Formats: sequence, C-alpha cells, structure tokens
Amino acid sequence: MATDLKTNPTTTSGGGAGEAIIRAVQIEKYYAQPSENRIQVISPTDLDIVPGEIVALLGPSGSGKSTMLRMLSGLSRPSAGEVYWHGRPIAQSEINVAIVFQSFALFPWMTVLENVEAPLKARGIAPAERRKRSLKMLDTVGLDGFEAAYPKELSGGMRQRVGFARALVVEPEVLFMDEPFSALDVLTAENLRSELLELWSHKTMPTKAVFLVTHNIEEAVLLADRIIVLGRNPGHIRTDFKVQIAQPRDKKAESFTQLVDYIYKVLTRPDETPAGDPAQLQRVRDQRQMKYQMLPHARPGGMAGLLELLLDKAGRDDIYRLADDLSFEIDDLLPIVDAAQLLGFLKIEEGDAVLTESGAEFGNSEILRQKEIFRAAALENVLLLRQIRRALETKSDHTVPEEFFLDMLDEQFSEEESLKQIETAVNWGRYAELFDFDAGKRRFVLPDLEEENAAVEEAD
Ligand code: ADP
Ligand code: MG
Repeated sequence: MATDLKTNPTTTSGGGAGEAIIRAVQIEKYYAQPSENRIQVISPTDLDIVPGEIVALLGPSGSGKSTMLRMLSGLSRPSAGEVYWHGRPIAQSEINVAIVFQSFALFPWMTVLENVEAPLKARGIAPAERRKRSLKMLDTVGLDGFEAAYPKELSGGMRQRVGFARALVVEPEVLFMDEPFSALDVLTAENLRSELLELWSHKTMPTKAVFLVTHNIEEAVLLADRIIVLGRNPGHIRTDFKVQIAQPRDKKAESFTQLVDYIYKVLTRPDETPAGDPAQLQRVRDQRQMKYQMLPHARPGGMAGLLELLLDKAGRDDIYRLADDLSFEIDDLLPIVDAAQLLGFLKIEEGDAVLTESGAEFGNSEILRQKEIFRAAALENVLLLRQIRRALETKSDHTVPEEFFLDMLDEQFSEEESLKQIETAVNWGRYAELFDFDAGKRRFVLPDLEEENAAVEEAD
C-alpha cells in the first residue's frame, strides 16, 4: 500500500495477515458528464478487509469515504475494478454484511422490536426465531424494556442503539458503519463507542471485521486496529497502518496524542507522487485535467481568525494544537487551512501551519487593508474569481448570470459541488469587494462601478 509518510513509532505498515474477507482491486468511482469529461471521485484503489480488525477510514469531508464504503459493502458498483467477497466477485456472492448509517433510518411506523426484526424477516427467518434473536440483541445493546416503543419516543442515542441492534441481529460477518456517532451528543457518543468496543473485544458478536467511516481522528485512534487515511480530489489512500496501542486506550496518554498528531500531519501534508505507483500517477494525471481548483468552503472571517491566532503564536503552530485550542474537528479546520494555503497566506511544514509574509501582513492589518491583501491574493491565485471579475469588467452592463459560470464548473464538479463553489466564490468575492451577487436575479454585478458611474453621471 502507498504510504507517503515515515512510519510512526506506534504503527506498522498496514495490510494485515490472514485471508481477506473483502478484497478491492483497483476500484474506481467516477461520474460521467454530458461532455467527455468525467468526475473522478475515487482513484484506482486496492484495499483488504481481513478478519479480526476494526478498520477506520478517516478523511476530510468529500474525500470519498462514503463512496468507498458503498463499494466495499456491495451497495454500489465500482466504475472500474472489482470487489471480491471471499475471493469471488461481490455481485455474484451471497454476502453477509450490515450497515449502520449516521441518520438512524428506522421505520417510524414500526416498534423498536419490529424494526430489529425487519432484516431477519427479509432473510426469511421464522417468526419465533426472529423474535428470540431480536429480544436478545435488544438486551445486549441496553434496550431492554423499550421493545414496544416507537422510534419517535426515543432519544437520538437510543435510536442509534436500535440501529446497532438491527445491524448486529443478522450476525454480519462484516459490520459497516458510516459516521455512526456523529449525530449524537458527545457523552452519548462516548458511551456507545465504549459499549461497541466491549461487544467486540469480548467477542459477544460473531462479527469478524468492522469497517468504520469517520472524520473524527480521536474516534479512529480510540477504536481502530488499523487506520486508513483518505486524501481528496480524487479520493486516494494517503496512508494505511496498524495501531499498536493496547485497549482500553487512554486519550491523555502520550502514545495516543502522538498518533493523533501524526494523522494531522498526514491529512495536511501536500500530496507526493512516488514514481512508479500507478494509482498515484493516475491521480496526478486526473488532477492536471482539472481546470478549476476546488475552492475549500471556508469563510474569509474564519481565515482571518486563524491567521491572527497564528500571529499570536509567533507565526507557527502545530495543526493538532490549533484544532485543540479552537475545539475544532478536522472538518472545521481543514477547509480554513486549505483556503489560507490556496491564497498563499500559510504553508504546511511537517504538520505545522506556518504564516507566510503576506499571511503575517494580513494578520497584522486593519480590516480595510486585510480586504486589499485578500483581493490581491484572490485575483492572483483563484482562476474562478479572476474570470468572474474579468467578465464583469468586460461586459457593458457589468453583470453576468450565475448560469454562465455554473456551466463551466459543471464540466468538472457535480451539480451540487458547482453550486457550492459558486457560493464560496460569492463569499470571497464580496469580502474582497471584487463583485457582488444579486441573489434574486442570480447574477454577478460590479457594485462599485455602478456607484462610480452614477456619481459620474451626476457630476455631468
Ligand atoms: P465523504 O463521505 O468523504 O464526505 P462522499 O463519498 O460522500 O465523501 O463524496 C465524495 C465525492 O463524490 C464528493 O466530492 C461528491 O461531490 C462526489 N459525488 C457524489 N455523488 C456524485 C454524483 N452523483 N456525481 C458527481 N459527483 C458525486
Ligand atoms: Mg460521507
């Protein structure tokens, strides 16, 4: 497996012994576009799920974690490559997996017991047997006494317990979970995590492997025997390693915090392209085809906050500590760091965020000067903003419909992402006073120029 960082002391290289239950060979996901372009979501990737492991798949939002889970669990087919179940193509196999999603996805018209029985019914198990198994499972997950309740009567944590019971009752060989704790409050999530770990380590469940998707680094380090970190655009494995810390793990222990720190480094490290690795090379080719950079969805105010904080820390700090100081998770912090990097305000060096000269000047300046610096950086570094501005200056009425830019972005991004790109561009453009956006007419406008023109007309 491709590992683009030195191995951490508490880890060894991933992969794993034993025969794989699920083996993905060069799987890819892409979406065809009306033009000949395609949106590559996952680069060709190899991945094994072996018995005895909890694997955590970590990565920033949009890196393709859910897409990977869907392909590995047989929910969706790869665009290319193959997923094998015990050595046979998964589409032709009788597979035994269950999936727990973030949203509880229970049937609201069924009782708790009926919800848990539902998958057994679907598998044709006789009524007496499925009742017995469901009651036992409800007991195991601490829902004794709630059999007759309806989902709406339960708290989020209880509902997710039902979700776990419904997944585990089929005794899946592989249990898939897609951010199962992220909709829960902190304490409930902690509680459910440790209960799950207890079930797993006491072999109370017959499940042989767990595949957990998460964007929470601590959660991954707490639970996983093996961690895979995904990078973005398109999704690819940045590193894959085993966690060598004994259970139960202590979040305060040095080995724990060291590993969290290491993962931040992996997540923020610029991509490398080791020669000869075909998956990596393909990814670079894909990236070169991309005309527009993907704007990270960060607000200028957030960037200003981060740059000022860094200035307070003599211009340099560990990203892990910054996240901790701000009580941010990676999904909060990474877009801001990425955006500041894109604009040339900071650099990442070995997991440290380091202010550049212009970043330091920005952090030190008053708001009006900050806007000027931002404006110059945006025009220099961001093609989309430059194009919008130029189009507005060129057109005689100084206005351009959103549609015009959406059509160009749609070549490269999904419809949803194109809209988000526009939204972010509007945010940045407004802040930098490059242009304004008329949300009613869905048009970009040059507001300052209009005012100037009006002033000129009045003077005439
Ligand atoms: P994650 O779970 O890591 O947040 P996802 O697997 O949900 O990421 O999505 C990965 C990427 O795939 C996103 O950038 C998303 O915009 C893109 N994507 C998902 N579905 C489609 C689609 N139907 N067409 C084009 N792109 C898509
Ligand atoms: Mg997801």
